[in-house]
Amino acid sequence: MTNRSQSELLFEQARRLFPGGVNSPVRAFQAVGGTPVFFRSGRGARLTDLDGNEYLDFVGSWGPLILGHARPEVTAAIIEAAGRGTSFGAPSPLETDLAERVREAFPHLERMRFVSSGTEAVMGAIRLARAYTGRDLILKFSGCYHGHADSLLVKAGSGAATLGTPSSPGVPKALAELTLTAAYNDLAEVEDLAAAHPGRIACLIVEPVAGNMGCVPPQPGFLSGLRELCDRQGIVLILDEVMTGFRVAFGGAQELFGVRGDLVCLGKIIGGGMPVGAFGGRKEIMSILAPEGSVYQAGTLSGNPVAMAAGIATLKLLQERNFYPRLEQKGRRLEQGLRPILAHYPERLCFQRVGSMFCLYFRSAPVRSFEEAARSDTAAFSRFFHLMLDQGCYLPPAQFESCFLSAAHTMEDLDAFLDAAGHSLKIVFG
Ligand SMILES: *Cc1c(COP(=O)(O)O)cnc(C)c1O
Repeated sequence: MTNRSQSELLFEQARRLFPGGVNSPVRAFQAVGGTPVFFRSGRGARLTDLDGNEYLDFVGSWGPLILGHARPEVTAAIIEAAGRGTSFGAPSPLETDLAERVREAFPHLERMRFVSSGTEAVMGAIRLARAYTGRDLILKFSGCYHGHADSLLVKAGSGAATLGTPSSPGVPKALAELTLTAAYNDLAEVEDLAAAHPGRIACLIVEPVAGNMGCVPPQPGFLSGLRELCDRQGIVLILDEVMTGFRVAFGGAQELFGVRGDLVCLGKIIGGGMPVGAFGGRKEIMSILAPEGSVYQAGTLSGNPVAMAAGIATLKLLQERNFYPRLEQKGRRLEQGLRPILAHYPERLCFQRVGSMFCLYFRSAPVRSFEEAARSDTAAFSRFFHLMLDQGCYLPPAQFESCFLSAAHTMEDLDAFLDAAGHSLKIVFG
């Protein structure tokens, strides 16, 4: 067993300060048991914990770190911006620069607004959709996570699903009743719900690749079917690309699958590891946002210069030719390397991947929805997780989360992952 005594000491102390010892639930290892690892530093694809143990990181801060940790160009941009002042509470040219780069990737974002987290971006988009349509209902998919705003903690994914509280206490019933839910990839169910509530649904919000219940790609026709339904019924389609934006392609899932949202939410990668979110879309909808219109939304640190600088430095590197093909090569290498390993355990495992997002489910058939993901053997996953950790591979500490590759992972790193996975699975399945 790896010695992680410093993490254990720190966790003791943290538990006297924070509920569950952490500041975001999935970090607490509750799903897999044991003590969370406290990190001292990260560099490239590697993390070092307080005891000096090294890990290959497949979490990437849950998505933002597509370039790996402490990429020198990003760090330099942060330091330079901070030296010129950390916040003005007034416009700076950095906001315009980042917005222009975002629009190169998402050309139909005629107007956008920067906020400080994905949660905030989604909150803004929902309020806007309700005001624009004059309707109250929203429709989401079970197992999709859109941040922790009240209306969206209904059959939510990520930590909420992992901890068995997909519909959180504290969300007023009257509000939860305004959120309709359907199974992911089930277009027929969405059609039925829309038919049952004619003219009452303001927006339909979807993760175009579901990354908060593992990694679930949209079935052919699913996203285009949603687009069509929204057009027919005057429903605002919100693509939540907080995770997939700049991840599955420079232009996100909308580029990869050729679907357009009326509103798009971004976060994670656009902040380059700093807190940034954004929402935007058609001018006609965005122009009802204050101060142009009357829908209120604001933020003291919105468009923060240091965070903008990190985002700009990150997007610059993503704009380099061959960035995404090279990342895809790594994903493919991992998939091809896993295939012969998984063949030893027929009907026990299912590997799903979109670009540099992937998940190894401890169940057989393909996973198309949360209902199917939930049938995974989470006890087997937990054993696998700890065996991987002891071999220096840091995975998300829950079955219902996506793993991430970064530009910093080398082919040798992937081989190390494959060796560790082969060894771990042999032990898990005896
Ligand atoms: C992470 C995530 C969010 C929430 O973003 P925060 O920055 O954690 O508030 C929203 N939607 C999706 C799809 C996400 O993956």
